[in-house]
Formats: sequence, C-alpha cells, structure tokens
Amino acid sequence: MLFSFFVCLFKSNRIGEEHTKIIFLGSPGAGKGTYSTLLAKLLDVPHISTGEIFREVIKKNNNLGNHVKEYIRKGILVPDDITINILKKRIDEHDCEKGFILDGYPRTIPQAQALDEVVKIDAVLNLKIHEKIVIMKLSARRICNKCREGYNIIDVQETIYGMEYRLPAMRSKTPGICDKCGGTLIKRKDDCVKVIKTRLKQYHQQSEPLIGYYQSQGLVEDIYVNLGLDKTISHIMKKLKHT
Ligand code: ADP
Ligand code: ZN
Repeated sequence: MLFSFFVCLFKSNRIGEEHTKIIFLGSPGAGKGTYSTLLAKLLDVPHISTGEIFREVIKKNNNLGNHVKEYIRKGILVPDDITINILKKRIDEHDCEKGFILDGYPRTIPQAQALDEVVKIDAVLNLKIHEKIVIMKLSARRICNKCREGYNIIDVQETIYGMEYRLPAMRSKTPGICDKCGGTLIKRKDDCVKVIKTRLKQYHQQSEPLIGYYQSQGLVEDIYVNLGLDKTISHIMKKLKHT
C-alpha cells in the first residue's frame, strides 16, 4: 500500500534519473534482495542479482551450473572470473542502458575493479544490521519456487547495543503458498545455520573491504535497516535525492 504510493510518487518525477547505477552492499540477510527489488521498481531499472543468476544457471544442469552449485552449496564465493564474466554480459544488455540496481555484486575488490572498468557507479547503499538479527532472519526466510518472491516468517522485536529492531514478518496470506503466483514457498538450501555462518565469514573477509573501496570514491551511504521496510525505503529515496 505505502509501497504503491511510493511507486506513483517517484515514477512520476523520476528522481533517480541521474542516479540509476546503484550498488547494494551489506551482509547476507541484511535485506539487499528486498530493498534492491523495490528500488528497481521505483526507479524503473533492471534489478540484477548475481545469486539469482547463479540459481538459474544451476537449473540448466550444464557444466557451468554444476560447477557453480558446489560453491553455493558450501556458502563460499563463486570464483571472480566466472562472476565477472556473467555480470559484464548482463549489464551489456540493452535494458541496462538506463541504469541498474546491483544486488550481491560486487563481493570482492577484483569484481569492483572489473565493474569500474566498464561503468561509472552513482551510489553505493550499505545496509547495516547486527549479526544476531541476520541469523534470525535468514533462518526464517522463504522464497517462492516459481517466481522467487521473498517472504519471512519471523517477527523481530529486539534491542541490540541500544539499537531497536522492529522488523515485522513478511508472511504469505496462506502459509506455504506464494501470494503472487500460488507457487510453493521453500527454504533455500544455503539458509541453514552452518552455511549461514560460512557466508558471514566470507562476507567479512572478502566483501566488507568494499565499503572502504567505495568510501574512497565518496559513494557510500550507510542505511540502517532496523525499522523495517517502509521507513528504510523512504530513507533510501531521501539519500538518493541528495547524492
Ligand atoms: P545472500 O546475499 O543472502 O548470501 P545471494 O543470493 O546474493 O544470497 O548469493 C547466494 C550465493 O551465490 C552466495 O553465497 C555465493 O556463493 C554466490 N554469489 C552471489 N553473488 C556472488 C558474487 N558477486 N561473487 C561470488 N559469489 C556470489
Ligand atoms: Zn510466486
């Protein structure tokens, strides 16, 4: 409801016109998927998730798919050469001329450098969240097996180091069934505690340095996601207006 309001408001004056090449950073479970999907709709540009591209590749059951599957299953990063290649091909497509929102790319410094060689990024949104909340949220995440819509079955109401989290669940109307397409809601295989811990470790070692990389280019906006969807998305829109 509130989201539809934002779509009308922002599509009408296209505030993001000059700022449409946007990267989302943040640990697994910070909400990159949710916020980047919404923002892409608001700005009317493609949403590009390397995780989703990889999951589609895996479905094809070819050599590349089987290779990629092993990394994702373990929660470790897919090698840079494969990832950079796939991403470059995607942003070369016609629909990316007006901009794009990157969700989950880059995750390493070489990936960021490869991107810098081909496009100029306008803004980097760094989603901030405490790790305890990440583990709670990722374990309760569900996705539709048909249309990939995301859901979450846990209400988070916690205060951590003085920061209050109010993250209501995003449940489907009928438990286990997607509101949008009637598909079945499933838990991603890599959303189990063991793999979540590996993904967080990979994030700290390989992806966190990207914050400094983009800070030195003056592009980073920190976004605290503790107050939920509507407040966070309006905060993002305000920040983009002023970059
Ligand atoms: P999340 O952000 O919740 O970890 P994603 O769907 O973005 O989930 O990614 C799932 C997995 O896909 C990662 O754990 C990693 O193995 C792989 N992956 C996605 N994007 C990249 C990337 N840019 N570089 C390397 N591996 C990636
Ligand atoms: Zn669905």
